[in-house]
Amino acid sequence: MTPAILVHGGVGPHPSEARRRQGMARATEAGYALLAAGKPALDAVEMAVAILEDDPTFNAGCGSVLTEAGTVETDAALMEGHTLRAGAVGSVTGIQNPIRLARALLEDGRHVFLVGSGAETFAKSRGLTQIDPASLVTAAQKKDWLDHRGTVGAVACDAFGHLAAATSTGGLRGKHPGRIGDSPVIGAGTYADRRVAVSCTGDGESIMRTVLAHRVAVSYGIHLDPLQAAADAVDFFGLEVPGIAGLIVIDLCGRMGFASSPGTTMLSGRGDATGIHVGY
Ligand code: ASP
Repeated sequence: MTPAILVHGGVGPHPSEARRRQGMARATEAGYALLAAGKPALDAVEMAVAILEDDPTFNAGCGSVLTEAGTVETDAALMEGHTLRAGAVGSVTGIQNPIRLARALLEDGRHVFLVGSGAETFAKSRGLTQIDPASLVTAAQKKDWLDHRGTVGAVACDAFGHLAAATSTGGLRGKHPGRIGDSPVIGAGTYADRRVAVSCTGDGESIMRTVLAHRVAVSYGIHLDPLQAAADAVDFFGLEVPGIAGLIVIDLCGRMGFASSPGTTMLSGRGDATGIHVGY
């Protein structure tokens, strides 16, 4: 089985910025290098997402958008397809890499989803890097009055044909404190099983109401085509709910698909035997 990874940098009306493309290339390359070395898909998606969390040009980790209270609250999740193991965290503050916290929760196995101070206490008990929440409020964000989207996510198929999906976000700019979006909700923003792995981006409230990532899995079960499954899910979304959505999908053969609402763009990075390709 030839491994492959697909990474996204959020859906939206984003300008094509060289910095964002470079960050995407770095993340895709690092994730693919792990797959090429025989590592599990779960390691690859965690690595790709953690690199984008450390890049302030994306809305995750240190680049997260602010709540209406001027604070940063992040959401993240990852899921492994063949075991259906999952870890998700919501509304966490002061965690440098929320995706690593979600991974620690997945490995722990007791719970799937922790939020707020409980998640932070768990992070402490696992020795994860905690930082002053104020340091996540970067100068760039304070100046950013534009609609800013750039949630990050990754899906991968490893050399054993095992799949994994990961998503991390600061959520929607100006959100109410305590709001949790689709990204950490298993089946909505993030989902993986034995046949497909999916990561979504866009208007979280609408993505949750359409259970979008799982919808892709259901459509894949009918068509056995990742591109068709992605397109079907985004079409359904456009017909049924307001807002925009984008998603990436990979199947157990390493075939990839993606789709986003009409008039939107979604930066993505693809890593497979043909090399690393970044584009919209
Ligand atoms: N889906 C994310 C949320 O609603 C935001 C995004 O993808 O841009 O939290």
